[in-house]
Amino acid sequence: MKAVQYQRVGESPVVVEVPKPEPGPGQVLLQVTAAGMCHSDIGVMSWPADRLPFELPLTLGHEGVGTVAALGPGVRGVSEGESVAVYGPWGCGVCRNCAQGKENYCTRAGELGIRPPGLGAPGAMAEYLLVDDVRHLVPLDGLDPVQAAPLTDAGLTPYHAIKRSVPKLVGGSTAVVIGAGGLGHLAVQILRATTGARVIALDVADDKLELARQVGAHDVARSDESAPERIRELTDGLGADVVLDFVGIAPTVKLAAQSVAIEGDITIVGIAGAPLPVGFGLLPHEVSVAAPYWGSRSELIEVLDLARSGALHAHVETFGLDETPEVYERFHAGEITGRAVIVP
Ligand code: NAD
Ligand code: ZN
Ligand code: ZN
Repeated sequence: MKAVQYQRVGESPVVVEVPKPEPGPGQVLLQVTAAGMCHSDIGVMSWPADRLPFELPLTLGHEGVGTVAALGPGVRGVSEGESVAVYGPWGCGVCRNCAQGKENYCTRAGELGIRPPGLGAPGAMAEYLLVDDVRHLVPLDGLDPVQAAPLTDAGLTPYHAIKRSVPKLVGGSTAVVIGAGGLGHLAVQILRATTGARVIALDVADDKLELARQVGAHDVARSDESAPERIRELTDGLGADVVLDFVGIAPTVKLAAQSVAIEGDITIVGIAGAPLPVGFGLLPHEVSVAAPYWGSRSELIEVLDLARSGALHAHVETFGLDETPEVYERFHAGEITGRAVIVP
């Protein structure tokens, strides 16, 4: 089968022929119907060899949707031909966090060598994907696979990030979304669908700001040094109750710190890793800062339900497997609006 692999540190991914996997005991083989392209792939491919937490070659793609093609011995709960989304942050399934469905925070995944598909295990940018356990599958129940693929990460991650702040996002409150890309344009919609907040989206690109407005942002603004002042103007000088940073570089975390209200939340989702000084007098009083990772199994079910209700619509551009290396180049250059989805 064809697969898109990251083979050598610093080199572009390539389309290669690899053996079609066979499901072992407990495993499920999916024929991939859609695989989303996440900026984290670009992040990981920019890391030096000593920072890579897994071996190469790696088949990319951690936003996967497919139809069940074959069941390994002992698998029950799904049937051949069924359309399913893959819950990506695989854990052990038995630790205290996994027991609550929070496999994204599995306490034992590292020690057991369990890695998400596309981020250690072979991923979804291939004709077939092996899923380690049936509990990592959620039925699509009528959702379009191309729509559903981005929801497994670009939908789930903002959903989880927003959920921690829901009590603060009452009527009259303001949420700021920094970076209206794959995750950000879904964050705007999740905020609109699940909270009473006024939503301000910031980006450096006009097409992304335009998309943010189309999907429900009340206001949009350039992400530059004047943005904190603009946010204060729009909030009677108070600042934003919640700032979600989908970039995480030094200028955006600074912007977050300058825009947040007393008792507000700053949530850094972008993985660039710029530090944010926290301490008395460094931020408005009682601001809470978090850098969450992905989301839980039950939250993925909630996100798919929201999409089925019509409240979420991923803005997607689709491509074939063979085009993937070139699409990564375009994505890196900022030329994708919304999410690129690979359809094998
Ligand atoms: P994307 O490229 O689709 O979107 C990023 C957006 O940020 C683009 O619209 C870009 O124009 C904009 N941007 C760039 N610089 C900016 C600036 N200075 N100010 C404002 N906007 C700016 O990327 P994505 O796939 O949506 O991922 C966003 C980030 O989230 C990445 O860092 C990715 O690695 C990370 N991520 C984190 C998690 C997690 O669990 N924490 C999960 C998925 C993705
Ligand atoms: Zn991702
Ligand atoms: Zn676990």
